[in-house]
Amino acid sequence: MATALTAPRRPLFLPAYDTESGGFCLEACRKIARLHRQRGIPATFFIVGKLLETEGAAYRELLDEPGLFEIASHTYSHKLLRDHGICGPGASPEEIHEELYRGKALVEDCFGRPCLGLRPGCGFDVGFRGAPSVLAEIVGAGFKYVSSRLWGPHTTVPAPLEQAHTYAEDGFPQLWEFPGHGWHENVLKGHNATPGRLLLWPPFYPEMQVHGYVKTPAEEFGVQRFFIDRAVADGLEYATLIWHPWSLNRFDPDMRMLELLFDHVAQQGMGFARFEDLWRSRQ
Ligand SMILES: [Zn+2]
Repeated sequence: MATALTAPRRPLFLPAYDTESGGFCLEACRKIARLHRQRGIPATFFIVGKLLETEGAAYRELLDEPGLFEIASHTYSHKLLRDHGICGPGASPEEIHEELYRGKALVEDCFGRPCLGLRPGCGFDVGFRGAPSVLAEIVGAGFKYVSSRLWGPHTTVPAPLEQAHTYAEDGFPQLWEFPGHGWHENVLKGHNATPGRLLLWPPFYPEMQVHGYVKTPAEEFGVQRFFIDRAVADGLEYATLIWHPWSLNRFDPDMRMLELLFDHVAQQGMGFARFEDLWRSRQ
C-alpha cells in the first residue's frame, strides 16, 4: 500500500491530429489510423468542418470507431478565433459564430455522435483567457473542452507542459482547457512560413536545444521525446504533442516517428488516452 501511495504518477499520452488539408490529410490519416488500429492506441482527430463537406464519407469510413477514435472540431474553416501573434488578426464575431457552430454540426452530422471538443486553428499562447465573448460562443455551441493553449509565452515555441484548467476565472467554470505541448511539428520541419522570432528568452527549457529544422524521423523523435520524458520526470497528468497529418506524411511517409514515439511512451509505462477520456474523468 505504501508503494502504491508513493509511486510517482505515470502521465497519459494523448495522440492528437489537427486534420485540416483537403486530400493530403485523408491520405495521411489512412496510414495513421492503420497504425493506431494495429497497436490498439486511441487518438483524437480534430477535423476542419469544411473537409467533411467534401470528404466526409471517406473520413467516416476510416475513423468511425467510437471506442478508439474521438472526432472533435478544428473549427469550420480554420479562421482565427482571436488575434494571434504570428498568424494574424482574429475573425469577425459573425465568422467566429460560424466557425464554432458549423464546425461542430458537421462533425456530429458526419459521425452521428456528440462533438465534445475544439482545437482552434493555430491555437494561442493563453488559450481563450481574457476573451469572454469567444468563450460564451464556445460554451453556447455546446463544447465541453477546448485545447487552445498551444504556444509558449509571447507566442513562442515550444509550448510548455501546462496542465488542464477551467475557464472559471473568465466566468466559465464548466469549460475545460487541455493545453497542447512541444513544437508544432510543421514548424519544426519548416513546412509553414514562420518568422525568425520563435524562441523565448530566457527559455522555458534551457536544457533543450533545437539547432535547425529536423531532417529525419529519428531526429524529430529526439525532439518530441523530450516532452514525454519531462512529463514523466515531473509526474504530470498528461502530455500531448501538436501534430498535423499532412505534415507528418510529407516528412515521414512511413510514419516512423510515430512508431518510435509510441514505443517510447509504452516503455515509460504510460497509458494512451483521448481528450474526451480526460474530460470524462472529471465528470
Ligand atoms: Zn490547424
